[in-house]
Amino acid sequence: MKTAVVCGAGGFIGSHLVKRLKAEGYWVRGVDIKRPEFSRSAADEFKLLDLRLPKNCVKAISLQQGIADEVYQLAADMGGMGFIHSAECEIMHNSVLINVHMTQAAATLGVKRYFYSSSVCVYRDMKHGEPEMTEAQAVPANPDNEYGWEKLYSERMALAYSRKFGMTVRIARFQNCYGPEGTWRGGREKAPAAISRKVAEAAHGDTIDIWGDGSAVRSYTYVDDMVDGIFRLMHSDLEGAVNIGCPHYYTVKELVDITAAVAGKTIQTRTVPGPVGVQSRNFSNERIYSIGWTSRFDLKDGMALTYPWVKKQVKKAAAKAKAG
Ligand code: NAD
Repeated sequence: MKTAVVCGAGGFIGSHLVKRLKAEGYWVRGVDIKRPEFSRSAADEFKLLDLRLPKNCVKAISLQQGIADEVYQLAADMGGMGFIHSAECEIMHNSVLINVHMTQAAATLGVKRYFYSSSVCVYRDMKHGEPEMTEAQAVPANPDNEYGWEKLYSERMALAYSRKFGMTVRIARFQNCYGPEGTWRGGREKAPAAISRKVAEAAHGDTIDIWGDGSAVRSYTYVDDMVDGIFRLMHSDLEGAVNIGCPHYYTVKELVDITAAVAGKTIQTRTVPGPVGVQSRNFSNERIYSIGWTSRFDLKDGMALTYPWVKKQVKKAAAKAKAG
């Protein structure tokens, strides 16, 4: 039986990835500094480890039966735009330590395949409609935030260890990912979860606040599609960074309208100052398409699955608060 370690298995994409690896027949160890918040991990074994420490990275990938065949590195100190703008030092410090020590441990202990989760935040700010950038055009680099710079550095480190130690490294640059069991409150939530929460809390006809003037565009990838992309990329011959994303772009206002339609409510928006991030990022998905991946969920389908889950969390939290 193939063995896999998923670092960041207590988080959103990691916990979904564990389920996919189990469905593919793997023995899986999940590793994280915390357990999954919303459901029991599907992993065969779950280890609580702080991966900023070198000895814990060695522990993470050392199994009773030897070294894990595949390591998926998704652990990071991260969140949506609000967090990215307010926690620059924490992001750069914590995530770079995790990646320095995880890459070193995996390469020196002889892991065969290593996956690293990067982000399209490595690309510069763009205007909507500018020609799509290929992966190579991320350099010369000018990410608008420190999260993107950390990702670029960690990508390069993984590739350097790959060259020196012969470890196969696969790197995905994820687009905004959303779906059930993602952070939905507390400051680290991303736009689809934050908008779902605001719409769930609003009454029919209410107005909700959105950051900026509402014109910034984003594309969103449903978590099942993202996990499918990770699995396919890990087992492909594609070297270097590979973008994974849905090709459709939406303004924040359109995201609200889609969410409101799913909720069956009329919702107005009020624009307020806030950390918007880039106006747009247009990047090519041709490399991931070349191995047969394509997104199966458009935003409407994905929000039809995400909104009810967030609404349930909102109701549960309200009931808990009422009960004292
Ligand atoms: P998440 O925050 O839900 O998961 C990250 C996990 O890492 C968390 O469970 C957290 O506890 C864990 N972690 C943090 N510090 C740790 C430490 N010191 N030791 C061990 N574990 C630690 O985030 P996610 O959305 O699942 O993202 C997974 C990966 O994908 C991250 O690398 C993220 O940067 C990347 N990514 C995500 C998105 C997105 O839209 N969600 C977009 C681009 C890139």
